[in-house]
Amino acid sequence: MTEMPTYQLFIDGTWCDAEGGALFESIDPATGVSWARMPAAGEADVNRAVSAAARAFEAGPWPRMTATQRGRLLSRLADLVADRAKLLAEIETRDTGKIIRETQSQIAYAADYYRYFAGLADKIEGATLPIDKVDLEVFTKREPLGVVAAVVPWNSQQFLAAVKLGPALAMGNTVVLKASEVAPAPLFEFARLVEEAGFPAGVVNVITGFGEPCGRALTSHPKVARVAFTGGPDTAREIVRNTADNFAVTSLELGGKSPILVFADSDLESATNGVLAGNFGASGQSCVAGSRLLVERSIRDALVERLVERAAAIRIGDPLDESTEMGPLATSDQLEKIDQVVSASVAAGCRCLSGGAPPDGLKRGFYYAPTILDCPGRDFPCVEEELFGPVLSVLAFDGEDQAIELANATRFGLAAGVFTRDLARAHRVVNQLRAGIVWVNTYRAVSPIAPFGGFGQSGYGREAGFESALEYTRTKTIWINTSNAPVPDPFVMR
Ligand code: NAD
Repeated sequence: MTEMPTYQLFIDGTWCDAEGGALFESIDPATGVSWARMPAAGEADVNRAVSAAARAFEAGPWPRMTATQRGRLLSRLADLVADRAKLLAEIETRDTGKIIRETQSQIAYAADYYRYFAGLADKIEGATLPIDKVDLEVFTKREPLGVVAAVVPWNSQQFLAAVKLGPALAMGNTVVLKASEVAPAPLFEFARLVEEAGFPAGVVNVITGFGEPCGRALTSHPKVARVAFTGGPDTAREIVRNTADNFAVTSLELGGKSPILVFADSDLESATNGVLAGNFGASGQSCVAGSRLLVERSIRDALVERLVERAAAIRIGDPLDESTEMGPLATSDQLEKIDQVVSASVAAGCRCLSGGAPPDGLKRGFYYAPTILDCPGRDFPCVEEELFGPVLSVLAFDGEDQAIELANATRFGLAAGVFTRDLARAHRVVNQLRAGIVWVNTYRAVSPIAPFGGFGQSGYGREAGFESALEYTRTKTIWINTSNAPVPDPFVMR
């Protein structure tokens, strides 16, 4: 029997155990069996990590580096991530159950995110202001904020770390990255690359542990200036409370219940693929899952028939096998929750057209079959709640107005998809959809250049794109008196 690997925390450029040697086990979702031991960071470890990041921000080589030098380091990191994509992908698949095809392509792409922010490092400029007063020169500078607490969930680990660390480091901040307790291994493997790239000690620290105490201690730490969070809305509320004392600038990338609108004039093959991608890609464990299919009544049966046929043909199984299309869910809790909501929805009147249970033939692991539920209205748990699993709820609409009304009937506002061949309709509908990202005739596409984020219960702030870099800076305004005359009347504001 092979020995289980035991991971360590990466703090201040060194590998160390959690205080008291606290450990927990990480489970391989494909088998349901523990495969590695993880260090459980407590308050003392969080303190060490934040103190290291604060020291690295204030002293040492990091604050003396030029933006161009920081960009070079990030480029090196990008090359290392691309180089080791295969190993990183295997570890991520092992720890999260996400299929190897997707982890490989996502990690290769995560490297491009670091490259994008490497390029941005020396391109963020201040301004010279044409001020309305004589003898004063006024200009602004963008400065880093300080210690960034980056808190991520278990899905898309490298990717969600890249959209936080890329801009944070490019702008000169230092980081404590907290990996999810569900699957922390991928980010410890990433920390090896940070070390190899040659970042000064303390600039990037990687820890893991449970929400309580680790996540709470980190996000409420008095030396944390910025919290970049991806996760669920309940945790987000905790985080907002945690930052009540440190006033950390916070971004929240949360979940969704995103609609995909399919109009009768759409290309059915394309719409079918878009809906499959939006629901069964990553086993539906995606914040942008298009889990509410809104389809024009006249093509409802035709589209549903195709979806049911395609869902039945999805290859479910070992996520490390390159031919697998859907792997397990990440945890047994997820599996239980999804099964409960599906059962409750069916009991309340939804019709299960496909799936609705763990698939036959897979005796272990946290698998759930691709599920399609026909919903007679919107007051059902499967239509209301984010499930984070392979469950599609189908609702029919009559006409554009009803489609938009249904699409916007949600407390979330992350993403939406529209399938139509009518260009004018596409623009009209896009303008009325309440979502941070709208895909037309495609779904689940991302880029380092395109801002990503939502509103309402889907959170606030944007990741990726130029504006996300600015969210890791603050503006300093500098006033220079160019006259040698004495300062005028001290009792009157100039
Ligand atoms: P989660 O909210 O349970 O956990 C996310 C992280 O927060 C973990 O690292 C966890 O340890 C930490 N945490 C928990 N309690 C905390 C506390 N009190 N203080 C500070 N940190 C705490 O989320 P999850 O179940 O791991 O992930 C699924 C959720 O993530 C879904 O809702 C999904 O939609 C969302 N998500 C959003 C995006 C996006 O970009 N919008 C991307 C992926 C996932």
